Amino acid sequence: MELINFITNLENKFQQLLKELEELKMRAFALEEENEKLRKEVSNIYQKPAGRKGVGFDNLARLYGEGFHVCHMHFGQSRVEGDCLFCMGLINGKE
Ligand SMILES: [Zn+2]
Repeated sequence: MELINFITNLENKFQQLLKELEELKMRAFALEEENEKLRKEVSNIYQKPAGRKGVGFDNLARLYGEGFHVCHMHFGQSRVEGDCLFCMGLINGKE
């Protein structure tokens, strides 16, 4: 009887873990969707005709300041390694 209790207990724990795994999967899915949406937003700002000067340009500089690449190489990705020469070239070459 003790063994049966142990197995039942284990089974319950597995079911709980599966439920948590499913929740994590849904959260990861939502985060990926959100990430994709943000990438598109950033991309829209970048591709406006006036993107290199004025408001569009300020947006690029702001995005860079917030830690995102604005260069062609890694556009929209987080700048985990600090400053990016490509981004800085783009921003500094505004005039
Ligand atoms: Zn960059």
